[in-house]
Amino acid sequence: MTGENYFCGNPYLEYLFLSHYNIGMNLDFSTTALLAIDIQNDFCPAYTGLDGKEHSIGALAVSRGNEIIDPLNNLAEKVHKRGGKVLATQDWHPEGHISFASSHKNKKIGDIIIVPVLEKAIVAFNKKFPDLTDPIPAAVQQALWPVHCLQNSKGAAFHEYFNTQLIDFVFRKGFRKNIDSYSAFFENDRCTPTDLYGYLKEQGIDTLIFGGLATDYCVFYTVIDSLRLGFKTFVAGDVCMGIDIPAGSVQKTITTMTEQGAVFVSAADV
Ligand SMILES: [Zn+2]
Repeated sequence: MTGENYFCGNPYLEYLFLSHYNIGMNLDFSTTALLAIDIQNDFCPAYTGLDGKEHSIGALAVSRGNEIIDPLNNLAEKVHKRGGKVLATQDWHPEGHISFASSHKNKKIGDIIIVPVLEKAIVAFNKKFPDLTDPIPAAVQQALWPVHCLQNSKGAAFHEYFNTQLIDFVFRKGFRKNIDSYSAFFENDRCTPTDLYGYLKEQGIDTLIFGGLATDYCVFYTVIDSLRLGFKTFVAGDVCMGIDIPAGSVQKTITTMTEQGAVFVSAADV
């Protein structure tokens, strides 16, 4: 398979793929999990559902986001058959969530607000993760988005073509009203943990393979935290798709992930 689709339309990915990995033979699947990030209707373009009904374009649709679903299903099947875990995340916001532009007076989509990091969150983090020494900022920038992935809404539901039968566990994130969570490991304050790390440790997982939406946001932040926490981290670049807002963010985040130690592979090589 060659051409634009294979590399998510990103020539930079093609460059990364030149160093061709075949990791399938070398992975111990008993300690490996695939983490499928946010394969939800609100992050996908319009499509015809399994029942023939039309789904309108998602509130925060990643252009061509649906193109990764079939290959991601195939990858999930492969991981599952070899004894690996298949995990999925779901963005899951309450009404009036901090990440919605409509939750703030005189703010519009794309604006940035500054959210202070709570001192008690930093104290708890330092106690729980004494080995993580990267500094926690006093405040973080939060981009404002359209209302999306409201809890129990059709937009928050998994895309109908995503094979949820294979999923061992779903992690929901962004469900606290006053803090957003791009990463599946930590809230956007970079220090309040979700349940994912504890689950992976409990299961003896030390290797993660990533796919999903969007490359430059939730995939990116989760991959960076995966590296930060010491997991062997692979990104199946052809089953990720980016939103590229602001323009150039896909390439920038791919560069950062690579520099920090993530290994880009194609799903076929797993
Ligand atoms: Zn969100």
